[in-house]
Amino acid sequence: MSITDNLKKIKSALPNDVTLVAVSKTKSISEIREAYDTGHTIFGENKVQEMVQKWENMPKDIQWHMIGHVQRNKVKHMAGFVSLIHGVDSIRLLEEIDKRAQQKNRVINCLLQIHIAEETTKFGLSADELSEIIQSDAFHKMKNIAIVGLMGMATFTDDTNQIRREFRFLKTLFDSTKKIIPGISILSMGMSGDYEIAIEEGSTMVRIGSSIFGARNRY
Ligand SMILES: *Cc1c(COP(=O)(O)O)cnc(C)c1O
Repeated sequence: MSITDNLKKIKSALPNDVTLVAVSKTKSISEIREAYDTGHTIFGENKVQEMVQKWENMPKDIQWHMIGHVQRNKVKHMAGFVSLIHGVDSIRLLEEIDKRAQQKNRVINCLLQIHIAEETTKFGLSADELSEIIQSDAFHKMKNIAIVGLMGMATFTDDTNQIRREFRFLKTLFDSTKKIIPGISILSMGMSGDYEIAIEEGSTMVRIGSSIFGARNRY
């Protein structure tokens, strides 16, 4: 199946209130162009440099989401255009985003990434760290970032019960965070292998790569 066919098939199966981020990391400009030509305008990348290059070479109505782990020294390169940063996992990173957004005269939307998987290799905040950040003075003083939701990645496993448990845990954290930051509306969870479960558990944003663009050779 072509990128166009894959994209259409996935979109027609998604509930209307679930946003699709087409994860285009490692994919070429012409592959992204094919997806864009179907009318899709939200793309996700996990490397800042690669996202900057693609932003430079693609139409400017594309919303670029940074879905990967972000190093603080890379924030400045994307601060002028990034539409949503999914992987914020420390107050220091948030402060850097705030500073760079201010220089660009923008407010940058961010998701706090929560560690929900059993695997220790995945990034993210614990529930305690999340509550510490959102109750901190430093966080409330920042004017150029907006926390608009939470993001998480489930364990890579065939055990669908485990995946469901992890997503359900993230949804409960989302609901309790909403009591402190009422403006949050995005729960970013679900990838090619697990997005159906994620949606059943309350996801509002899925990040799908290989089911649209085919398998990747690297990362
Ligand atoms: C690569 C990636 C995805 C997409 O993964 P697929 O399995 O190809 O759909 C989603 N989220 C993050 C954070 C990723 O790095």
